[in-house]
Amino acid sequence: MRKFWSSMVNRTDPYVPGEQLNQPGLIKLNTNENPYPPSPKVAEAIKDEMGNLMRYPSPTADLLREEIGKLNDLTADQVFIGNGSDEVLAFSFMAFFEPGKTIRFPDVTYSFYPVYAKLFDIPYEETPLNKDFTISPEGFYGSEGGVIFANPNAPTGIYLELQHVEKILQENPDVVAIVDEAYIDFGGESAASLINEYANLLVVQTTSKSRSLAGLRVGYALGQAHLIEALVRIKDSFNSYTIDRLALCGALASFRDHADFTSKTMQIVRTREMTAQKLTDLGFQVIPSQANFLFASHPDYEAKQLYLQLKQRNVLVRYFDKRQVDGYLRISIGTDEEMEEFLGIVGSIVGKSV
Ligand code: PMP
Repeated sequence: MRKFWSSMVNRTDPYVPGEQLNQPGLIKLNTNENPYPPSPKVAEAIKDEMGNLMRYPSPTADLLREEIGKLNDLTADQVFIGNGSDEVLAFSFMAFFEPGKTIRFPDVTYSFYPVYAKLFDIPYEETPLNKDFTISPEGFYGSEGGVIFANPNAPTGIYLELQHVEKILQENPDVVAIVDEAYIDFGGESAASLINEYANLLVVQTTSKSRSLAGLRVGYALGQAHLIEALVRIKDSFNSYTIDRLALCGALASFRDHADFTSKTMQIVRTREMTAQKLTDLGFQVIPSQANFLFASHPDYEAKQLYLQLKQRNVLVRYFDKRQVDGYLRISIGTDEEMEEFLGIVGSIVGKSV
């Protein structure tokens, strides 16, 4: 037992989550959450479900799978539900990638991928991004063990056009390609439309960003039924109850409220474009984003110094100081009011106003 424990510790290099400070007045722009509360229908549904909490939840989450399936022109057996997309991704690594076969992901991407790869003993190659941070599709052709990338990518926010995603699928016919679409609702076209054509495609999405449900922990995978079946087997070996009753009914209510979803995502996209323009006016270099965050650097100010000065003034963002993303800040999009306040404070730090 002791031996197992120590070998596990050596193997893993756990993910370090973003700071979750709760101080009053904090402008929290560091973990790409949605600044708006979820649809009021979510609260109603959860309240109604409270009286049923003595009962176990559905192990198959049929209603939610059907609803998500319908929204993507898929059937319920092409949908897998998990406790946040982090769990769905972990199960996907277990189901589709194997020790001894090297997988590929971009060298700048969601930092959970190397954590899972190490945990499950899967060798990996980090495919370099182009100088402008775009993904070079050719770098993913002919992978031995599989492919995973975020689209739009994180922390850059850059979207890879669907035709390139399709080419990556075609050039990897014998392995699974996972497209992590945590931010797809803020721009770009989902690869879910390719699922019936490609037996090797798994699309992973979440309710944490565009549906304001980070606290509820509901993620899902879309793919052909044989891939979903593999994920169900893994899940059932850990816990056959998909997610809890409140999460199931809350997520269902959210997926049924199209108007709330559309108006909030459109608002975030508008705020993102306004913020990108004003950051540019302040002298920042801003990477074009299709996500609910911006990736930006300033030629005269170090990212860490900007992060610290912002934090002192009650604004929390992320900074990067590794390899080619050295010097970049990642700023989640908040409400218009939060972004105006943020821009005012950044302006005072860099000595300009917008
Ligand atoms: N994928 C990417 C690219 C992310 O940025 C995140 C959020 N940090 C996730 C997946 C996980 O999201 P969740 O577990 O909240 O669904």
